[in-house]
Amino acid sequence: MIELGESQNSPTEFAFEISHAPAGSLARVGTITTPHGQIQTPCFIPVGTKATVKSVLPESMKDLGAQAILANAYHLYLQPSPEIVDEAGGLSKFMNWPGPTITDSGGFQVLSLGMGFKKVLSMDSTTFRDDDVIAQNKDRLAHVDDDGVTFKSHLDGTMHRFTPEVSMQVQHKIGADIMFAFDECTTLHNTRNYQEKAVERTSAWAKRCLDEHKSLTDSRADSPYQALFGVIQGAQYEDLRREAARDLGSMQSSGISFDGFGIGGALDKESLGTIISWVNEELPEHKPKHLLGIGTPEDLFVGVEFGVDTFDCVLPSRIARTSAVFTPQGRYNVSNAAYRRAFEPLDDKCDCYTCTHYTRAYLHHLFKGKEILAATLATIHNERFIVRLVDKMRECLKDGSFWDFKQDFLGSYQRSSGLSAD
Ligand SMILES: [Zn+2]
Repeated sequence: MIELGESQNSPTEFAFEISHAPAGSLARVGTITTPHGQIQTPCFIPVGTKATVKSVLPESMKDLGAQAILANAYHLYLQPSPEIVDEAGGLSKFMNWPGPTITDSGGFQVLSLGMGFKKVLSMDSTTFRDDDVIAQNKDRLAHVDDDGVTFKSHLDGTMHRFTPEVSMQVQHKIGADIMFAFDECTTLHNTRNYQEKAVERTSAWAKRCLDEHKSLTDSRADSPYQALFGVIQGAQYEDLRREAARDLGSMQSSGISFDGFGIGGALDKESLGTIISWVNEELPEHKPKHLLGIGTPEDLFVGVEFGVDTFDCVLPSRIARTSAVFTPQGRYNVSNAAYRRAFEPLDDKCDCYTCTHYTRAYLHHLFKGKEILAATLATIHNERFIVRLVDKMRECLKDGSFWDFKQDFLGSYQRSSGLSAD
């Protein structure tokens, strides 16, 4: 087993072991070990923004096969506060989720909410590209400088400042098993010059995150070890992406290096695989890679094929609350009139709690009646669908059938997706 916590003084409770790596491909199967348990990879990690997957019990998340939960540092910083999560014994204990937890750095929310992006909390490239991404300067609620970002709370308008050090302090108090370095997240609409500047800034911030992380790890030696992932930016530019990956991949500061890496920032659907391959060709092979905010079935196949180990995305739960549900034939809206008398499961191939106990007609009724249970049942199904899809990719990588499975699944999913009603 490869130990990734390289600090001599830190407990090395974090590790990543690769068990299968098909020849001639970046794809691999592995196990991430954290103080709160293991994650079999590739793996889809559901998002519980405010330390809850909206409308679903942690026990139900476990039952549907979730291996870890990702929460947002920005939201928990504003409410309830990192101090309260710390006093509660850390994120896992606070939210009664006994398994591994992850926090993002807060950078994406600070910048996206602050810069007048529409209400996009994930990097769903389909909605992302349609946004009027950067509001006029006067409308911005966030201002970036070389030291950090000053932003206005989306909750009450109060002013706050995130620096790499603050992000590390916040994430250490929240106490997730995996944290991300504070990065400057850009969009495809930024100029090349700005992207270069952002990559430079992210590099300087990454170093500061390592230093602060080392100092906090030492001063909180009785807390479980928290791993730190660096975030690779560089938008759609090959030289910037490769440079960022080489830089953060080999970065050492205060005697430590990153435990893994996140691939972040502007990613359009067409070049997703190309960008991931640039990055993963440069990053150290034996460290885990996380693709931030990506969760459509098509994108998950691309990510796994090009060596991504873990994914997170709000998509399954967000669309569930609008009555959109996944099936192997594509997405549909169960609130459509066609399902009023559909006394069959959301997806007859699904083994989730919702599909084994309820009908489309019942969910249609709950959505029409604006019943809270609608969100719960639809979310359980969608999260199970995506978790199980990536689990299946993992099994297929082991027995060599991944590419056949990809072709079969996408053939059916995409052929029918024109019929989907969302
Ligand atoms: Zn289901």
